[in-house]
Amino acid sequence: MDSTETFDRERQAMVTWQIAGRGIRDERLLLVMRSVPRHHYVPLNCRDMAYQDRPLPIGYGQTISQPYMIALMTELLNLTGEEVVLEIGTGSGYQAAILAHLARHVHTVEMIMELAERAQKTLDEEGIRNVTVHPGDGSAGLPDFGPYGGMIVTAAAPVLPQPLLEQLAVNARLVIPVGSPGHQVLQLWQRKAQGYEQESIAPVAFVPLRGAYGWSYEDWGPDYS
Ligand code: SAM
Repeated sequence: MDSTETFDRERQAMVTWQIAGRGIRDERLLLVMRSVPRHHYVPLNCRDMAYQDRPLPIGYGQTISQPYMIALMTELLNLTGEEVVLEIGTGSGYQAAILAHLARHVHTVEMIMELAERAQKTLDEEGIRNVTVHPGDGSAGLPDFGPYGGMIVTAAAPVLPQPLLEQLAVNARLVIPVGSPGHQVLQLWQRKAQGYEQESIAPVAFVPLRGAYGWSYEDWGPDYS
């Protein structure tokens, strides 16, 4: 069996056992996760582990999240396919690729220039044309392209950055991990005609959000501490 077939088989098993098996029901999302080659988004030295039930290092102290966490956060956005979505924390570009199949356009912001460049290159090679990678600090969102029909933050904020809520369209949802190194909760926010609703979904473990609304290095040292 060649490696493409092996990866394909591992990807189908990943969706069956790790994703559907843990209660993700969105059929569009399951189909997309069955088709997007996660192994193209991880560095060569851990490609063999691409479909394991865990996050993996992508360099610069950062990670590509566990497949189940990506599925859970994406399902919570309730996308219909028409939305313009904002992701903060491009990392490998894999989450953006999943979103690209479920929304009209994805704007994604990455603070580490090398990762932003690498993710853009991978997305280009994969033929994904409806993602724009923006290098820079996304902790205050990206007001120029909002309001967004969905927002996903893939690094842990000390508290919810208020500007993100302001860039959310009415009825749209925001998923964000909030908390400190040992204690984070995945929060789901939804903008209503008047005000917002908030729900706590699950305890999680993410690398820190940096930048203006993120963690300082004094309060949360190097990302792998
Ligand atoms: N979604 C990514 C993927 O699919 O590979 C995984 C993201 S990784 C868990 C978190 C990313 O957030 C890191 O690449 C980190 O550099 C980035 N990050 C942290 N703070 C940021 C900020 N203020 N603005 C933009 N990116 C940030």
